[in-house]
Amino acid sequence: MKVVKFGGSSLASAVQIRKVIDIIKEDDQRKFVVVSAPGKRDEADTKMTDLFIDYYECYVNGLETKKFQQKIVARFSAIASAFSLPVTIIKDFEERIARLLNNPIEGNQYLYDMFLAQGEDLQARLLAEIFVKEGISASYMSPKDAGLLVSDEPGNARILPESYERIFSLRDQSGVVIIPGFFGYTCSGEICTFSRGGSDITGSIIAAGVHADLYENFTDVDGVFAAHPGIVHNPQFIKEMTYREMRELAYAGFSVFHDEALIPIFRAEIPIVIKNTNNPSHPGTQISNTRELTSQPVIGIASDSGFASINITKFLLNREIGFVRKILSILETHEISFEHMPSGIDDLSIIVRESYLTPKLENLILRDIADIVQPDELQIEHDLSILMLIGEGMKRSVGVTAAGTFALSSKRINLEMITQGSSEVSVIFGIRSSQEARAVRALYHAYFED
Ligand code: ASP
Repeated sequence: MKVVKFGGSSLASAVQIRKVIDIIKEDDQRKFVVVSAPGKRDEADTKMTDLFIDYYECYVNGLETKKFQQKIVARFSAIASAFSLPVTIIKDFEERIARLLNNPIEGNQYLYDMFLAQGEDLQARLLAEIFVKEGISASYMSPKDAGLLVSDEPGNARILPESYERIFSLRDQSGVVIIPGFFGYTCSGEICTFSRGGSDITGSIIAAGVHADLYENFTDVDGVFAAHPGIVHNPQFIKEMTYREMRELAYAGFSVFHDEALIPIFRAEIPIVIKNTNNPSHPGTQISNTRELTSQPVIGIASDSGFASINITKFLLNREIGFVRKILSILETHEISFEHMPSGIDDLSIIVRESYLTPKLENLILRDIADIVQPDELQIEHDLSILMLIGEGMKRSVGVTAAGTFALSSKRINLEMITQGSSEVSVIFGIRSSQEARAVRALYHAYFED
């Protein structure tokens, strides 16, 4: 039995939905279908979820909401009429969209999520109608009925472990079950969404819950490539990789699969395949617990910008007990999580994402560090990027990092930091953001072309 998830681009128009129908009809093991909201039809288009955000903004700011109501309805209506569905369906959608405005604004911390979740919810309802019309026995199931209980964290919900028992019982449902992705319900019955792009997470939870044999994640690319095709021309295709390798790639900007979505299937050891709705006969990229190691130690090169480094120097730091704890508790007080912490003998750097910082917060953190640990030197560096070399094979190969540092030095790219975790699945280099694309090309050349 397979759980299949379709991303926004696979459901953006009637033409795309035809491809989805063919994919489902082709394989009767495809029993659970998790959907995203309609995505962009072309570059200039707006994602449905973003239309709901605009609609929400107008509502809470007392602005005219009609325009967005109409835009949203028009998109669903265009799909419905292409499949000659009865107009009553769109009437029902219109009412559901308008009813959102009956919810209180003041003190309602769930309101935003309620709006956001509608894109997926209506898409799942619509797809169920389309499937039935096209002769597929199918039904819509809300995340509430599916048993997706989540933590009370609007915009960043997490699945509660008790959900899995209820989800397991979905195996007995007849026909194809269509579930909206991206949100669940709290124990008190409120909608909370996962983080953006979170339909992948729902797919993964359902796959783990029903003990699927495979989780197929359909998107608009053939699978995962060894480097970003926007940076490296025609990069190598990755046929198979491990969950850990995918986690590392997703961390540094490989957005083809949501990093949080790896957890449920990783724990349940369910393989995933990333496939292309526009090219379904392509085998895609398989992700599972182990893979056959090839002669290539590095399978991918990822990079991400938007990092800052807080650099702290203090003579005889290594003798001072509790030094790191004091610094980390300052970050905790200011609710900042850190990404990496490379250290020397008398110095330490804390790498954080710039998006967590504001100029005011930055000053407060620096002031607290200066007061509490009294460093000899303290400064913050902005505009850093990280480069990651990823591959399970690095553990048993000699000279992998050396080849990378050589490639970077020959392009005169200065390394601000190097770090490697004990699992040795990745090596991370910190560099100036202005050199990011050049550095990725240099590393790609060193590991994949030389
Ligand atoms: N529609 C949601 C978003 O745009 C979730 C998803 O597509 O996975 O973030």
